[in-house]
Amino acid sequence: MNIILLGPPGAGKGTQARFLCDDRNMIQLSTGDMLREAKTSGTEMGKRVAEVMDRGDLVTDEIVIGLIREKLQGDKKGGFIFDGFPRTLAQADALGKLLQEQGEALDHVVELQVNDEVLVDRIVGRAAEAAAAGQPVRADDNEESLKVRLMAYYKQTSPLIGYYHAKGNLKSVDGLGSMDAVKLDIAGVLDA
Ligand code: AMP
Repeated sequence: MNIILLGPPGAGKGTQARFLCDDRNMIQLSTGDMLREAKTSGTEMGKRVAEVMDRGDLVTDEIVIGLIREKLQGDKKGGFIFDGFPRTLAQADALGKLLQEQGEALDHVVELQVNDEVLVDRIVGRAAEAAAAGQPVRADDNEESLKVRLMAYYKQTSPLIGYYHAKGNLKSVDGLGSMDAVKLDIAGVLDA
């Protein structure tokens, strides 16, 4: 089973993806994690994307599609969870083609619905928690970048909700509940 977790920054996509990996042996494909890794390890591509990412804007479709293409050729285990990808209509089209080439299908697009106040609280909370634990705080977990990230979501990513609705893949889940409540709702969608 291959699924997309769709939702704004702070909606809980990463958290729920990790639960699904543990419970269903699925593989989390987070383009954000891959890009941060490239940034940290200082690859050519990592250096190119650093500024855009820190500001909160999207990196080019070409880069993220390339990252995903590579991963789709590896082990599939219990299926892929696309987390933070696709974020544009061009990426969504590219994903459809890539899956088809692999003889795979997209089974569900799960939209995590939340409101903006919760997002800001969660992201500020995430930054504070990391700082308190002596862990690195994400360079884009600050108020200024968050505004840019939210705008990028509404302008470039939220059209995917209509796109996948039209394709018949879209399932919406209330992302405001506790982690466990959201997890149960997602399981309900996947096991229906
Ligand atoms: P995330 O961890 O998903 O919040 O992603 C962090 C940052 O990485 C985003 O703000 C973008 O700059 C970049 N990024 C991650 N995924 C994508 C994507 N699918 N398309 C474009 N940029 C992305």
